[in-house]
Amino acid sequence: MTKKKVFRIAGETIQLGETRDLKLKISEQFTGDPVGVPIRVMRGKKRGPTLFVTATVHGDELNGMGVIHEIMYGAQLELVAGTLILVPVVNVFGIETQNRYMPDRRDLNRFFPGFKSGSLTSRVAYLLFEEIARKSDFGIELHSAAQPRTNFPNIRGDLKNADVRRLAWAFGCELIIDGKGPDGSFRREATKAGCPTIILEAGEPLKIEQEAVEVGVRGVNNVLRELGMVAGEPVLPAYQVRISRSTWVRAEVGGILRFHVKPGDPVEQGQRIATNASVFGERQNILEAPCDGIVLGMTTLPMVKPGEPVCHIAVPSRSLKSLRLAAARVTGAGKKKRIRAGALVQNLARSETETMPGRGTFAKEQRKES
Ligand SMILES: [Zn+2]
Repeated sequence: MTKKKVFRIAGETIQLGETRDLKLKISEQFTGDPVGVPIRVMRGKKRGPTLFVTATVHGDELNGMGVIHEIMYGAQLELVAGTLILVPVVNVFGIETQNRYMPDRRDLNRFFPGFKSGSLTSRVAYLLFEEIARKSDFGIELHSAAQPRTNFPNIRGDLKNADVRRLAWAFGCELIIDGKGPDGSFRREATKAGCPTIILEAGEPLKIEQEAVEVGVRGVNNVLRELGMVAGEPVLPAYQVRISRSTWVRAEVGGILRFHVKPGDPVEQGQRIATNASVFGERQNILEAPCDGIVLGMTTLPMVKPGEPVCHIAVPSRSLKSLRLAAARVTGAGKKKRIRAGALVQNLARSETETMPGRGTFAKEQRKES
């Protein structure tokens, strides 16, 4: 369908070589006025695959919108073939209230492929799915962590699907997490419907962060290159690693946290993650890494109750030692092979030269870190 000369979306026909900004009507306000999702469609001069890039399906996750804005208004994108559908804000309801959810308090990203005569959210999901997922050959969804957390940029997808695997590795994040995604999520249902889709999880909600935008823009361009839609080869980090499992470090007691790691840091089993102090400042306990891994996500809220998640540790399918060796090869002086180093490579190289901080009192730690 998408290799045809004529491409129709939101009731409009877009010709080869044309770029158009459209509104896809997905619902109505109380006043009966239309509610539309803004869509940019860019077509290369030659036929080719259709790729969608969507952001802000959760109304408070804004980094993806920043990525799409940069693609629209940053360095000129020379689309040589195919069709690119850019959707900077999917959840036009949620962004108005800075909220993850829809007005009926449902999570839009659990209602795909939707139902024509279902609930408000189900109808919106149906229209988006029919117009975007079913008209595309490939998809990229851009997300951030949920409140109150942040994620080190990572790609997720069903790696059993060969096309998903191709996109996931081409995108160019260091960490690739295998999984189909929850029932009713856009990426799971789109992949099931024949449109292999990956997601980027990067940064925290309610922010547009430079690092997340850089990773996202590079990744989307990499996928466009992989699909032959723009010229050139993907720019990949020194290495990429599949994440075989992950684990959460949780608070044992209520208190105030002081963090010793940040997203993307490699951690060894027993390494300090956070110190928990009482409201009077007295140290209560130190949370430690239960295994070797890489900090995938963290809470951004420094207060916890027992059981609340503090730090999400990804366990790579290769040892930290082998990743450090790969990082050293890339950052080492005088090496011929110069591949662009990603953030994780820099973290791994740095952690090798740093000495592990010893255990001190909470007050000492505070002085050292301030
Ligand atoms: Zn999300």
